[in-house]
Amino acid sequence: MSDIIIATEPIDDLDRALVKAATAALDTGFRTGRHHVAAALRLADGSVVTGLHLGSRRVNLCAEQIALGMVLSQGLAEPVACASVIRMTEADRPEPTSPCGVCREVLGFFVPSMTVVLPHLGGLVRARFGDLLPAPWLLPGESPS
Ligand SMILES: [Zn+2]
Repeated sequence: MSDIIIATEPIDDLDRALVKAATAALDTGFRTGRHHVAAALRLADGSVVTGLHLGSRRVNLCAEQIALGMVLSQGLAEPVACASVIRMTEADRPEPTSPCGVCREVLGFFVPSMTVVLPHLGGLVRARFGDLLPAPWLLPGESPS
C-alpha cells in the first residue's frame, strides 16, 4: 500500500486576494443556519465571482458549487482559482477552509486545472482540484482523465 500525496505550492498575492473576496462575501452574507461558507472564484479574465453556501434544515448546497453554477450559467470566463472561508457563529471570524468531498468531485470534474487554497499545517497552500480526489468514482472500464 502506498500513500497518496497531493502536490501543493505556496499561495501568492492573487490567492490572498481571493481569500479576502470570500471573506468579504461572508462578512456581508453570513446568516446563522443559512450562510456559513463563502467561495470566491477568480476567472481567466481576472474577474472574481463569489457564492454563498445555502443551508436549510436538511440540505446544504456548497458555496463553491453555487459560484461555479453562476459562472457556467452566465457564460463567464473559465474559473482558474478558488478560495473558501467558513464561519460557524456570529462571533467567529471567517477562516479559510478546504472544499468538501462533493465539491472535490464536482469542481474537479468541471475544472480539474482550477487551483484551490487549502489550510495546511497552520498555513495556506495551493493545489489543483483535479489532484484533490486522486481515486475518483469511475464507470466500469472507465479510466481517470
Ligand atoms: Zn462542498
